[in-house]
This record gives sequence, structure tokens and C-alpha cells, in this order.
Amino acid sequence: MMTKQELRKRIRDNIRLMGTTEKKAESECICRQIIATNEWQDARTVWLYASMPDEVNLTLLMQHAAQSGKRIVLPVVDGDNLLIRHYEPEHTSMSGVYNIEEPTSLCPTLDNLDEIDIAIIPGRAFTHDGQRMGRGKGFYDRILASLRCPKWGVAFSCQIVDSLPTDPWDITLDNVFYPKKVSLY
Ligand code: ADP
Ligand code: MG
Repeated sequence: MMTKQELRKRIRDNIRLMGTTEKKAESECICRQIIATNEWQDARTVWLYASMPDEVNLTLLMQHAAQSGKRIVLPVVDGDNLLIRHYEPEHTSMSGVYNIEEPTSLCPTLDNLDEIDIAIIPGRAFTHDGQRMGRGKGFYDRILASLRCPKWGVAFSCQIVDSLPTDPWDITLDNVFYPKKVSLY
């Protein structure tokens, strides 16, 4: 079995080989699968994330959530932890640690995680049955441990592996969405 570090490198190389068009097509395929679920349709508060270029892009989910009146919350890096803030489009900036569009301190924090109905979680590698490996900082393991709603991973097809190294603190997700088959045309 590869170490986490070796697997992170392999996945990074896989994603680097993807073109912009392929990443967009796979991302939209994943978003459409999620939108089709009862859990998404019924959710009032959804936890999404602001994607980096090497992550599944959730723009379609953002748009669908906004159009259907769902409340969007996004994680923001706060020292060693993730802080959950309400997404208010007028109060975002590119100044986050990872240079992604993050809610600023003008967006109120969500203090009661029980208000979240569904959480969409990025990662570096996933198995079909929900094991997850992140970027190596453990941000999501720490906060997901106290989250009771469905936790769903999203992955490009090149991020799905048959098995991955886990540690006792790693949180297993309830479902993983990835493109089964993608047509670019
Ligand atoms: P990632 O999940 O980002 O791939 P790891 O699972 O390797 O990263 O975890 C990175 C570090 O985060 C670990 O060294 C571990 O000490 C710390 N960590 C993860 N989860 C917890 C937790 N629930 N409580 C305290 N520390 C944690
Ligand atoms: Mg982990």
C-alpha cells in the first residue's frame, strides 16, 4: 500500500493531466448527480466549498442552491481549523489562504453545525465506499467528526482508488460522487 504522501503525489499528477474542458465536464456531471438526489432537493442549508483549480468545481450547485432559496455555508481556514461562514456574495474576497473566493469576516459564522442538512466535501483521493484522504492538514477530519448530516465527497474520476491508507482519525463519508462516464461533446 502506498503512503498518503505517495498517493497525494500520484493524484496531483493525474489531475495535472486533465484539461480545463474535462475538469468542467466532470464537475458539471457530478453537480447534476447531486442536484437529482432527494437529499439535495430537501436540504435547506447546504455546506459547499469554494474550489481551487485542481478541485471539482461546484458552480452549478452554487447556482442551483441560490435559485432554489437554499442557504449556503462555506468553510474558511482559521488557523488550524475550519470556520463555517454564511455565503453572502457581496462579502467575499480572493484573500483567503489558498487564494480562492472565500467569505470575509463580514459574513456571519454558523455556530450550530446541526443546521447543516448536507455537506459536500473535497479531497485528494476517495474509495467508492467513502474513505477519504485530504491534502494532509486534517482540516476536514477535525470538523466532520462533529457533523451529523450526510457527508458527501466529490471527485474527478482520476481521484477514485480501490483502497487508500487511513489513520484512526480519518472520517468516512456517506457517499462519493464521481463521473461514471463523461461525454465532452
Ligand atoms: P488529511 O485528512 O488532510 O489527508 P491526515 O488525515 O493525514 O490529513 O491528518 C493530518 C493531521 O491532522 C494528522 O497528523 C493528525 O494529527 C491531525 N488530525 C486529524 N484529525 C484530527 C482530530 N480529529 N483531532 C486532532 N488532530 C487531528
Ligand atoms: Mg485525514
